Amino acid sequence: MQDAPLKIGNALKDLIWPRRCVICHKLVGPSADRLCPACAAAVPEPVSGARRGAHYRRWVSALWYEEPFRASILRFKFNGCRFYADCYGPWLAKAVEARLGRDFDLLTYVAVSSLRRWRRGYDQSALLAKAAGEILGMAPVSTLRKRNRTPQSKTIGHEDRQDNIRGAFQVRNPDAVRGKRVLLIDDVLTTGATVSEASRVLLEAGAKSVDVATLAATEK
Ligand SMILES: [Zn+2]
Repeated sequence: MQDAPLKIGNALKDLIWPRRCVICHKLVGPSADRLCPACAAAVPEPVSGARRGAHYRRWVSALWYEEPFRASILRFKFNGCRFYADCYGPWLAKAVEARLGRDFDLLTYVAVSSLRRWRRGYDQSALLAKAAGEILGMAPVSTLRKRNRTPQSKTIGHEDRQDNIRGAFQVRNPDAVRGKRVLLIDDVLTTGATVSEASRVLLEAGAKSVDVATLAATEK
């Protein structure tokens, strides 16, 4: 049970900074969960498909990158809403279990560059991997290092991105990767070029297989 000062503190916080639904951003009551009843009831169905020429074996996404999820994910990535990972994590875990199973030896994620992590204060895919991993019973291991020079995907076209991404990642600890069936987590899958390149270096480092799970996918 909360003590009185903590209770008053939380009530004040809710008054100044009212809670909003993680997905639709509508106001929710102070005692409510982070999802409004409508969004809590509408759990998205996982989506998956083939990606020709990709280095990973299979991919699944918890949802499509469309409204209202798109705006929610943008707040998660760019507006400091890091706690959204606690809401997304179970969806991601559900997608993995439904489409990829649980036969993995290593849970890892597509890292952002150190510069970006420093600016943002967190690595969103690391948070997703941790939240999903709690349900899957695996603690994520950091295996990839991203070089700082790669421009952000939103500023360049898809074709440029394919060329641009090559050489963007290094495996920091090949010993942790060798012989492992890897589950690779990323936030948004667009062309798949980023996760494919990350998969390529993991396989090159000796991973047995790489399957990909993303929170959202843009292309149907
Ligand atoms: Zn809602």
